[in-house]
Amino acid sequence: MSALLDGKALAERIKAALTEETQEFVASTGIQPCLATVLVGEDPASEVYVRSKRASCAAIGFASRHCALPSDTTQEALVALIGALNADPAVHGILVQLPLPRHLDADAIIDAIALAKDVDGFHPRSMGNLALKKAGFVSCTPAGIMRLLEESGLDPVGKRAVVIGRSAIVGLPVALLLTHAHATVTLCHSLTARADLEAAVRGADIVVAAVGVPGFVPGAWIKEGSVVIDVGINRVTDPERPKGRLVGDVEFEPAALRAGWITPVPGGVGPMTIAMLMSNTLLAAQRAAVSSTPSR
Ligand code: NAD
Repeated sequence: MSALLDGKALAERIKAALTEETQEFVASTGIQPCLATVLVGEDPASEVYVRSKRASCAAIGFASRHCALPSDTTQEALVALIGALNADPAVHGILVQLPLPRHLDADAIIDAIALAKDVDGFHPRSMGNLALKKAGFVSCTPAGIMRLLEESGLDPVGKRAVVIGRSAIVGLPVALLLTHAHATVTLCHSLTARADLEAAVRGADIVVAAVGVPGFVPGAWIKEGSVVIDVGINRVTDPERPKGRLVGDVEFEPAALRAGWITPVPGGVGPMTIAMLMSNTLLAAQRAAVSSTPSR
């Protein structure tokens, strides 16, 4: 039976440390870190995500500025809002909640965010910095996964890792970070043959699943003693639970019998994502304070 990689508990510890660091930062600079959240439309899931990010800001001692816009907001109006937030020295981080309504060009909106305030790490230059191992903001879910491994003493060096999914917000950056951490990485995606996927998972010391299909990875494929990071968040319903419950991309029970370590869903990667967003926001405020300090 595997040990649980308890992202919820670790995220709480990280947020407690950030709270202390924020108090010291505010006391020494008089600056309160501030995250601006931009939500377009009324998608209930997005509303929940934004609410929980703002609650974390309040708990840590950050200010948050919420910009709720109607679903028919134009591209020009949204770009203008981002421009105003970029120019506002009281705002240190900007988070545009995705997905945006279909008539909006999300890439152009993300491009418009000032690099210094790109706390989600989705800007193409942030991604470029990540790929090249240069300083910048690392997107929050991939950063949370790496922190979870690190804090659990699970060093990827020399390990065989398989990442399933190649999205710009999870799979691709995780594969880059694991490569930087000296794992030997196989990146699987929608056009990977099922037999190749199975062989890669069966041989992997670290499995990161980010597909968005419940139970996509059979537990029987998991190598004895390996590390399983399940990023998937899927709501499934059954007659007993008509409101549904959240499950990951990996068949949890059989995988947990084989893995050495496994993340639960919920309570694994999800809380780490928010903790990393908070960490990036404090970092953005600290960098802004340094760059605005007059040199003598
Ligand atoms: P996405 O839809 O953008 O990407 C899914 C990826 O899965 C694609 O790259 C695709 O190539 C791959 N894929 C699809 N079918 C496949 C197949 N048959 N074999 C192998 N690969 C296949 O999704 P995403 O944004 O990367 O999110 C993935 C999952 O992670 C979702 O469940 C999402 O809700 C969850 N998620 C969780 C967090 C968190 O904080 N825990 C953050 C982001 C996303």
